[in-house]
Amino acid sequence: LSERLGGVFDRLTKQGALSEEDVRTALREVRVALLEADVSLPVARQFIKAVKKKATGAAVTKSVTPGQQVVKIVHDELIAVLAGEDGDPGKLKIDNPPAPILMVGLQGGGKTTTTAKLAKRLRERDGKKVLMASLDVNRPAAMEQLAILGQQIGVDTLPIVKGEDPVAIAKRAKTQAGLGGYDVYMLDTAGRLSIDEELMAQVEAVRDVANPRETILVVDGLTGQDAVHTAENFDNRIGISGVVLTRMDGDGRGGAALSMRAITGKPIKFVGLGEKMDALETFEPDRVAGRILGMGDIVALVEKAQATLEAEQAERMMKRFQKGQFNMNDLKMQLEQMMKMGGMEGMMQMMPGMGKMAKQVGEAGIDDGMLRQQIALIQSMTKTERANPQILQASRKKRIARGAGLEVSDLNKLLKMQRQMSDMMKKMGKMGKGGMMKQAMR
Ligand code: GDP
Ligand code: MG
Repeated sequence: LSERLGGVFDRLTKQGALSEEDVRTALREVRVALLEADVSLPVARQFIKAVKKKATGAAVTKSVTPGQQVVKIVHDELIAVLAGEDGDPGKLKIDNPPAPILMVGLQGGGKTTTTAKLAKRLRERDGKKVLMASLDVNRPAAMEQLAILGQQIGVDTLPIVKGEDPVAIAKRAKTQAGLGGYDVYMLDTAGRLSIDEELMAQVEAVRDVANPRETILVVDGLTGQDAVHTAENFDNRIGISGVVLTRMDGDGRGGAALSMRAITGKPIKFVGLGEKMDALETFEPDRVAGRILGMGDIVALVEKAQATLEAEQAERMMKRFQKGQFNMNDLKMQLEQMMKMGGMEGMMQMMPGMGKMAKQVGEAGIDDGMLRQQIALIQSMTKTERANPQILQASRKKRIARGAGLEVSDLNKLLKMQRQMSDMMKKMGKMGKGGMMKQAMR
């Protein structure tokens, strides 16, 4: 995917306001990206329409290309849809103890696991006293499962009484929660393999006796469209107040989150990121947006570039690079830019596919301290020397190194780096416009 969007960058390297053609080209790719991320077709369509309206005619920040600018607009819009207005992710209504929380969903979606994860979180982060009760009378093993998890995380579970029906268990949980001074009691309902009348009637009956403060639907995020249908069904029949998407640790791209939000309008509260009891996180729209776009943190990179890169400087530099010119002044600017963007390692971390390289750079000791030293070396050169580093002979080198408080060997390393970059620029210059971005995206 990043290759595809990289292609968009290549084609859109000219500057100025976004033309309709720019936007159309970029959005065609974004649409495919959305569908690949398992966003439903109507949602993708509607989304693209909204972005198109915002993007056409928008001014392009000078230091980024129109393609990057479109991605940024798409990214912001994704966040807006994912967050919604009533989002408040990570928060549950649990005032007026004992507050009932009803957990619903299909079998295997992760209800029982998520019940325990949430209970642990409420206890540890909010200092709440929590009682958990399993209403899964169809599978005795399911009741055991919750009891075992409760022991593991140090949260009480309602004692199991054989032969009770779910409504009776819910009533007993309510009584017990009141008597025991619990802040919250959680009802983990039984699931089915698919939506059926019996299941719905059962959950409805439980809802009516418990009168839950929150009704949380737990769905497998990997099931994409099915997750959305499940949510619609449960919401129509039971009424849900929020959603937890599980298995977001898998390689699903999070498109279900967008469809879920757009179609049901229900806030996504948490995401499950694994089987362990700590693997539950607050739903973060910006992270999911980045994941849907599959762009690493390229959006963050664009944002940083917007904030720090002087437009004219960048343009001048691009022109020089395309001619294969790259002297010490250029290197200095690059080094300073790198410092602003969080150093070499920080910058590479943000580029898709370059995380590993960033680690190597870190291990090789190319850090901020080194960037600072290199800048100091360039600063102790004369104007002529900066523009023509090839004139540096032994005596000049000694003077420059001394001026920066460093060794000649340090200066030699810098010179080597400048020569390599200069060679690289020449090669890229030959590849034509956009070549640089293409290289960076690989
Ligand atoms: P329930 O039938 O809805 O109660 O589902 P369970 O809570 O029993 O979960 C079914 C399986 O999914 C279990 O093996 C869980 O460990 C696993 N599971 C639950 N949530 C997650 C998650 O966020 N990520 C992963 N990888 N596995 C999960
Ligand atoms: Mg269960």
